[in-house]
Amino acid sequence: MLDRPAHFEETPDTFTGNRALDQEEPLLFEIGRLDATGVDVDEAPQFAPRLGGLERKGSIGLPGLSEPEAMRHYVRLSRKNYSIDAGLYPLGSCTMKHNPRLNEKLARLEGLADIHPLQPVSTVQGALSLMETLSHWLLTLTNMQAIALSPKAGAHGELCGMMAIKSAIVARGEGATRKVVLIPQSAHGTNPATASLLGFSVRVVPASEDGTVHTQAVKEALGPDVAALMLTNPNTCGLFERDIIEIARAVHEAGAYFYCDGANFNAIAGVARPGDFGVDAMHLNLHKTFSTPHGGGGPGAGPVVLSERLAPFAPVPFVRRNGDSLELVEHAGGAQSFGRMAAFHGQMGMFVRALAYLLAHGGDGVAQASKDAVLSANYVRASLRDVMTQPFGDRLCMHEVLFDDAWLKGTGVSTLDFAKAMIDEGYHPMTIYFPLVAHGAMLIEPTESESKASLDLFIATLRDLAAHAKEGDKDRFAQAPRFTPRRRVDETLAARKPVLRWAE
Ligand SMILES: *Cc1c(COP(=O)(O)O)cnc(C)c1O
Repeated sequence: MLDRPAHFEETPDTFTGNRALDQEEPLLFEIGRLDATGVDVDEAPQFAPRLGGLERKGSIGLPGLSEPEAMRHYVRLSRKNYSIDAGLYPLGSCTMKHNPRLNEKLARLEGLADIHPLQPVSTVQGALSLMETLSHWLLTLTNMQAIALSPKAGAHGELCGMMAIKSAIVARGEGATRKVVLIPQSAHGTNPATASLLGFSVRVVPASEDGTVHTQAVKEALGPDVAALMLTNPNTCGLFERDIIEIARAVHEAGAYFYCDGANFNAIAGVARPGDFGVDAMHLNLHKTFSTPHGGGGPGAGPVVLSERLAPFAPVPFVRRNGDSLELVEHAGGAQSFGRMAAFHGQMGMFVRALAYLLAHGGDGVAQASKDAVLSANYVRASLRDVMTQPFGDRLCMHEVLFDDAWLKGTGVSTLDFAKAMIDEGYHPMTIYFPLVAHGAMLIEPTESESKASLDLFIATLRDLAAHAKEGDKDRFAQAPRFTPRRRVDETLAARKPVLRWAE
C-alpha cells in the first residue's frame, strides 16, 4: 500500500492532495526516475572524442519520466498558470490585454516561424520587409527618427536607450562629468536599475501634490553633471505629465537627454506622439501596447525609438533598404553605433504579432484602443470612488486608476489581504504597493479589451469585498486565499534566500 504523498501535507482534504480536477504536481526531481525516459535514442556510433579526456563518463543524473507522465507534468503545471485567456488581469502598469488569435495565426505561418537568423539575407527578404514595415508604424506613431528592434524587453530597451545617451555624451567629451540621472519618485524600479547598471548615480525628483513630477524640482536638479532625465508618461500613477514639453525643454537647455519610459504608451498610442514632447529615446513594450503575449505566455520585445540626435548611436543590426532589396546592417562602418544588444535582430515572432495587431486595427483603430483603455479605467474609477480612496484626489486618469489604502484604515485589512481575497474570487489581483508614492497602492489597469459586462462583474466583486472589509469581516481577508493550492507563501524569504537548485 502506498503512503499518502508526503509533499501533499499542505492540502489535507484528500488522500492525493488533489482538489477535484485541480491536481497537485510535484517537481520533476521528486517524481522522476533515473531509469525512465520518454524517448528512444539509438546508441551513438563509435567516435573519437575530441575533448582531451574532459568528456563526462558517468550518467548525467537527470530524472526521467515516460512520455505520458512528462506530458501530464507539463499540462498540470500549465493549468496552475492564471492567464489573460482565463480571466480579467487588472495588473496596473503591465497592460495585460487580450492577445488576438489572428496574431497567433500569422506568427505560425511556416515562412515566418521556420526561418533562422543565420539564413542568407537573400532568403529572408519577406521577414526583413516585415521588420521595416513594423519600424515604419512605430516611428510614425511616436514621431521619432530611428529605431532599434533588437531589445528583448522593456528593461532591455531602457538599457539600449540609455546606452545611446551615454554614447552621445561620451562623444561630446562629457563622459567624465555627466554622471547623474534624474528619476521621479514614482518611477518603475527598472529605471534606477538601468541607470546604475550603466554607472550613473540616481538623483530622485519628488512628486508634487497632484501625483505628477514636480516641474520646479526637475529644473532645480538639472545641472552640468546631469546626463538624462528618465520619465514615464503617462506616469505610474496613471496621470499624464502635463508639463512634459516644458520639462523636455529644460532638460535640453541643461545639455541633458530625455529618456521617456514608454511602457504606458497604451494610453496615448495614435493620440499623442512622444517625438512632439521632445523625447530623445523611448522603449515600446510590444508585449504591452501591441498585444503580444507576456507574463509567462511569451517573450517580451522592447524596441527603442530614438531622436535625430541619438540616431547615429543606434545599435546594430538594423534593416536598411538597398535598391530593391533589404539588408541587415551588422557592422556600422564609420558610424558611432554603440554595438549590439543581442546576438541577432530581436524577437521575430513578436514583430509578426505586433504588426498583425497594427494592420488589423489601422491608425484609427490604434487611437480607438487607447481611448477605450482610458475609458475603461475611468469607468472603474467612477464606479469605485465612493468606496475606495485615491491618493491624488478624484480626477480623470489615463489607462489605469490608482487607489490607496486610506479607506481600509481601522478595518484591520491591508492592501495585501484585500488582494489575496480577490484571488478567492477568481481574479488576479491588481498591482499592489506600487507606485511607492501612494500608501498601500492598488493600481488597476483594466485595458480596452474587457467588455462592459466583464468590468461590471469585477467592479461588483470589489464593492462586495470592500463592504465586507468595512463591516469588520477581518478573518475572511486574513485567511485569504482560501481556495488556492498554496495559501500565503513567504515571499520575502523566497526572494532573500532563493532555492534555485534541487538538492536531496
Ligand atoms: C513594464 C514596465 C517596464 C519594464 O518592462 P519589461 O518589459 O517588463 O522589462 C518599465 N517601466 C514601466 C513603467 C513598466 O510598466
